[in-house]
Amino acid sequence: MSGDYSFDIVVVGAGIIGVATAYYLQRNNPSKTILLLDRLPAAGQANTAMSAAAVRNMFASSTNQLLTDTSIKYYQHIQEEIGHDLLFERCGYLWLLSDSQFNNVSIQNWMKRMEESNIHYRIYDKKQLKEMIPGLNVDFEGDDEAELMNLQQVDFGLFGGDCGVLDSTRLVEYYLQEFKKLSPVKPRFGISVEKLLLEANPKLDVPGEPFVWQKKKVNGVITNKGSIRAETVVLATGAWTNKLLDPIGMDGRTKAKKRHIFVLHAEDKSGLRDLLDTKGFCDLNTIPFTILPSAGVYFRPQLQERGFWIGCADKLGRCFNYIQTEDYEHPESTYYENSIYPVLVKYFPSFEGARPVGSWAGGYSYSPDAIPFVYKENGILVLDGASGSGIMKADAMARIANALYRGEAEAELYGGKKVPADMLSQNERKVEVESVII
Ligand SMILES: Cc1cc2nc3c(=O)[nH]c(=O)nc-3n(C[C@H](O)[C@H](O)[C@H](O)COP(=O)(O)OP(=O)(O)OC[C@H]3O[C@@H](n4cnc5c(N)ncnc54)[C@H](O)[C@@H]3O)c2cc1C
Repeated sequence: MSGDYSFDIVVVGAGIIGVATAYYLQRNNPSKTILLLDRLPAAGQANTAMSAAAVRNMFASSTNQLLTDTSIKYYQHIQEEIGHDLLFERCGYLWLLSDSQFNNVSIQNWMKRMEESNIHYRIYDKKQLKEMIPGLNVDFEGDDEAELMNLQQVDFGLFGGDCGVLDSTRLVEYYLQEFKKLSPVKPRFGISVEKLLLEANPKLDVPGEPFVWQKKKVNGVITNKGSIRAETVVLATGAWTNKLLDPIGMDGRTKAKKRHIFVLHAEDKSGLRDLLDTKGFCDLNTIPFTILPSAGVYFRPQLQERGFWIGCADKLGRCFNYIQTEDYEHPESTYYENSIYPVLVKYFPSFEGARPVGSWAGGYSYSPDAIPFVYKENGILVLDGASGSGIMKADAMARIANALYRGEAEAELYGGKKVPADMLSQNERKVEVESVII
């Protein structure tokens, strides 16, 4: 460690992205001292814990396909070869689509791109879907209410069998435990970073520094428990990143949006039990993570609890914020009752009368193209903008961050695929716009 630094690296934020990054940095730079810190009492307690923890490689952009496909394969490796059970269950993803949605050019391009990238998927027609999921309502002919609600009928199902769900807490545990085995520095919790320490580089020790004509660099963080100096600051602060970048004049280019999950149990309703135990899609004999054709409503099976987690990718009408606010912690029960439930019950009448036994809410951090940012500038390494899919991209993002830290031109993702280390940067971005966001 050089100069007056206390650590070589301080990683701010111990969500899935922070713990994975701390691990790769320590593994590849064993002589460096790395402090991992978070303001919460433990790792993975913020949006990582709020996620549906579903993982899919079915994206439209080749960038997201690559980030997720390699990360998911690594998670599979953790579970199957390393033996750390992530409760990774390959239930698949099923998009239910109307004829006009299926034949829309963006869906056709999406399928073409998946084929080019060797992402496997299957198409089911309406008749097959009805046979496999008898409780699915595919047709709204003559249903005025459905017409009023703009509900599209079901003509096709697009199914990805390599996708699934896992337990995000266990994934956090894995990276954290591996980091702790390698790092001489214990992670610290309950420490909140209030400001980035931007200084002149080099310092002249003149009052009023840094002046506009000086080079500048972030040399650490100011926390509620004092200053911590570090040569490199890693910001893995998700939907709160702008709060730290804005005051020093850096534009994070992300924005936050609130998202919900509602928990429903299947056991006391035979129709829901049958739906949960749908056969034919995967070896687990369960219904896949399913996205309805209308209103952005989706559900994932929850096999340990024998139920469903219901969510909604609401777009127009739900505000963006520059950072996640406290309101995000409070789920809105009327949102389930008035927005989600009426749609759910039209497609799956077995949900009739089903009320949530639990709910929570959190935030997405969106980038403008729905592809994450990983960049190193002014002494800070920023990982943000996972756009609602940070669990499934965390491994690849962390490996890219490590390559940037080391000044390497390429990052090696799991499985050996090499990518330019600056591909997710703000200025040298080599990505397409993602269109398949849930
Ligand atoms: C309802 C919902 C459903 C989702 N479903 C999925 C899904 O199915 N699949 C998927 O891949 N993704 C999903 N996501 C998105 C996923 O949860 C995020 O992309 C992912 O958790 C981002 O990880 P992170 O480490 O950046 O953020 P976080 O887990 O939010 O971690 C950021 C950490 O930074 C800390 N922090 C912030 N500011 C400071 C500060 N100033 N000082 C100290 N610490 C600070 C916070 O305490 C927090 O622990 C979902 C999100 C929500 C809300």
